[in-house]
This record gives sequence, structure tokens and C-alpha cells, in this order.
Amino acid sequence: MYITMVSPELAPIAKVGGLADVVIGLSKDLVKKGHNVEIMLPMYQGMRYDMIRDMEEAYAELWVPRYAEWVPEKVFTGIVEGVRCYFFTCGNKFNRDEIYGYDDDMYRFVHFNRSVLEFMKKTDKSPDIIHCHDWQTGLVPVIMYDHYADTGMNKTRAVFTIHNIEHQGQCWFGEDLLASIGMDCGQYYRFDRLQDNIKHNMINLLKAGIIYSNFVTTVSPTYCKEIKESDGKGLEPTLNANSDKLGGILNGLDYEYWNPATDPYLELNYDIESFDKKFTNKGSLRYRLGLADEYRPIVACIARLVPQKGLHLIKHAIYQTLEKGGQFVLLGSSPDEAINEDFRRIANELSDNPNVYIEIGYNEELAHIIYAGSDMLLVPSIFEPCGLTQLIALRYGSVPVVRSTGGLADTVFDVDHSGKGFASSNGFSFCDVNEDGINSALNRAIECWFYHGENFMKLARNGMRCDYSWNNSGNDYVNIYNYIKAH
Ligand code: ADP
Repeated sequence: MYITMVSPELAPIAKVGGLADVVIGLSKDLVKKGHNVEIMLPMYQGMRYDMIRDMEEAYAELWVPRYAEWVPEKVFTGIVEGVRCYFFTCGNKFNRDEIYGYDDDMYRFVHFNRSVLEFMKKTDKSPDIIHCHDWQTGLVPVIMYDHYADTGMNKTRAVFTIHNIEHQGQCWFGEDLLASIGMDCGQYYRFDRLQDNIKHNMINLLKAGIIYSNFVTTVSPTYCKEIKESDGKGLEPTLNANSDKLGGILNGLDYEYWNPATDPYLELNYDIESFDKKFTNKGSLRYRLGLADEYRPIVACIARLVPQKGLHLIKHAIYQTLEKGGQFVLLGSSPDEAINEDFRRIANELSDNPNVYIEIGYNEELAHIIYAGSDMLLVPSIFEPCGLTQLIALRYGSVPVVRSTGGLADTVFDVDHSGKGFASSNGFSFCDVNEDGINSALNRAIECWFYHGENFMKLARNGMRCDYSWNNSGNDYVNIYNYIKAH
């Protein structure tokens, strides 16, 4: 099958969040399965150009509408991790320091959407599937069906993936936004089209992607259910009206990169057969962080420190773990300096305690060492579309302790409540977003480590046996592609 991904981000060259990992992970898996995949993304000034192979010009003068005129721009091409990519200059609109965060973000990305389709038309591309990701690409299916239906793309089907429904772009006045790429807004100001469900005089690009695509996915089945019921940030009616073409597919994890048997950052590599070597990594983690070398479990948390991640629960867990006799390691950072300051204050307050280590910052190497050296990984998110940290923890034999929401509910099975028992559960979970809630899981996990060590080991090993690689998720996407091609 011929699949074109359209994305605002791509790991490792242009990454802000998990979306970047999904696009490269899924694309690589589809290539491995024998499909023809290409990725379209904006040409950012700050991309990791050193990680793009064979960069060259793909189209010298692509004429794209800008209000009433047509203006020329360039398209480049290169290979990222074995996948063919196209980079759109869009009149230098992406020649800036950051990927997002500008007042004209809406204009920049609709321009990108229009350029992609114009390029596909001019180069006679007719993929089976065009797979778009998040609001930044929401207009692609709209433009394709309404303006390019009589080109080679008349058989192309569109898939749209919602990575986090909190991000819908800014609602914007449609007339000027669409006029900026030579389109007339009139027909789109309707509740069953692009009109925002709350601000009726504006349009919503995430909604555009949902309405105009042949299939819409979210990044886990439980998140899909949650956003239809009550967490859809205003889009619940749209999701429910389109529920027959909506489904959740779990994100995969890059099992080559995240592999304790080959991870170059670890003191000693290990796998399920040589689990004992994990304890060497625990020792070196303690040594590196200055933690006491005593008979205690290490509870870790690695997260962007944003409200979604359950900040008050993370804070509470630090003290609760110490009270229960454990050690706590936090690695995290926030875009909000006040939050970083708050955690630095806790670090200062506990600076004499040999059982706690808090690092505020982003540290890839340390993250690997923590996954390998910790006994448990805490993820107390308020909501979590999929979540990667619990998947990494499972792979590294660190038992996840999570709030049962979104992708966490789909991947972590509580030993006491999932009905699977010690034979096939892999962690501890809780529901209530309060101190009693988190205690109910954290206390059980720590007590299990102290008093039922054999059972705790079973959980860790069960986790290492789970398969959350891209292979399974890739198959699910292929099934959807085949389904919409046939209908
Ligand atoms: P989100 O995309 O919402 O931040 P995920 O769980 O999907 O959350 O992905 C988080 C990824 O970022 C994981 O790979 C995790 O190891 C990594 N990460 C988060 N915070 C840090 C940090 N401070 N230092 C190093 N890696 C981090």
C-alpha cells in the first residue's frame, strides 16, 4: 500500500512531544511490513539537519495560493531513519526558533496543508491513504475532497489521528484564514462541518479533520471512550455523531531504542533471563544519585511536569514513599517556571534525606538509567491519551503504579483488581484523583516489594513479557487502511 503521512512533527529531527515518536515509529513499522511510506512536514529552521540523509531540492517552483495571488515556494526531500520525507518551505513561514507558539500558527499550518496537496497534484501522487496527525493537518482532508477530487487523488482515503484532544489549535475566524490559502469559507460555517461547537463564529481545525476523514483514531481505546463521554473538550457531540468511524489504537514503543539488553546507557545490560543484573543497575543508580544503599524499593517518576501528569499526586507520593520506607527519584521539567520552582523547593527541603533525589531538567541518559535501576515507576496522570513511560517501565522490569485512565488503563493491569492475579497482571493502579486514591496503589506496591518479594518479581517479569512494540499497532493501522480502501 502507498501511504502518505502529513505531520507537524517527526522524531528525531523535529520533536515537541509523543506525536513525533508515533509518526516515525509507525512509518518505520509500515516500511518494514513492505508498504511504500512517505512523510510530509514543514521545513523548520531548527530541525536536526544532521540526521537527514541525502537532502536535495524536490520541486523548485511550487505555486501555492495566497489570498488572490499565487506565490512560488520550494519543496525539499531527504531520508530520515530510512523513510522518504518532504519538507515544505511555505514562504519561509517556519524559519523561526520554535515549532509552535506564534500568533500566526493557524495561518502557518493551513498554508502547509495547502502546499502539501498542491505538491501532490503537481507530482501526480495518488496514495491509497493520506494519514494526518492533529489539528495542524486538519484541513488536509477538507482541501483534498473539495478541491482536488478530480486529480489523481480521487481514490485516496484519509485517516486522522487525535494525539491529545486538549490541542485543537486556536479557534479562528474562518473567512480570513481560508482566504489566506485561496479558499472560500461560506460552505464550512455549519455545525456538521468546520464551525466550532462553542464559539460559533469561528472554525475548528481538529473538528475539520474528524468530519472530513474516512477514519479517525485516538492513541488508545480507553482514551477514545473517555473523549466521547466527557473529556472531549467541547467535541463530544462531533465524536459521537461520527462514532462509527472512530477507534482507538495503542501507540507502540520503539523496542530497538528502548531495550535493556542493548541500551548503551546502562551499567550492565539485562533481559528477562538475566533479571538479576537489574540489581547492578539499581546499585549504580543509587551511587550516581547519592542515595543510601539500604534494603528499600526505589519508586521513580519521569515526566513533563504539567497539570495533566497529576502534579499534586506526584508531590504527595514523594512523602508517602518515604513514610512507607521507600526511596523516591523524580526526573522532570515544566514549561512553567513556577512549577519547576515548586519542585526545587521540595528538593531543598529534603536535601539532607538520603532516600530522595529530585532533578528538574530534561536528561535522556539519566532517564534510561532510572528505568533500569528503579523497582517501580509512578504515573498518576489526570488524563493520558496513551503514555510512553509506563511502556518503557514494563520493558525495563520496573513495575508501573498508575492512575487507571486512557492508555494507562489499557496497558497496566492491577494485580488485585484486574482479575488476572499474579500469573498475568503487571502492575498496580488506582482510580480516584486524591491522596487516598494514590495511597491505595502505592502502599500495596511498596508492601508487596517488602513482604512478598517473589510475587513482586513475578509482576516485573510479566511486564517484561508484554509486547507493546509497533508491530501490533502497525497491524491495527493496516487493517484500518484496508477497511477504508474497500468501503
Ligand atoms: P508526554 O508525551 O505527555 O510527555 P509520554 O509518556 O507519552 O508523555 O512520553 C514521555 C517521554 O518523554 C518518555 O520517553 C520519557 O522518558 C521522556 N521524558 C519525560 N520527561 C523527561 C525528562 N525530564 N528527562 C528525560 N526524559 C523525559
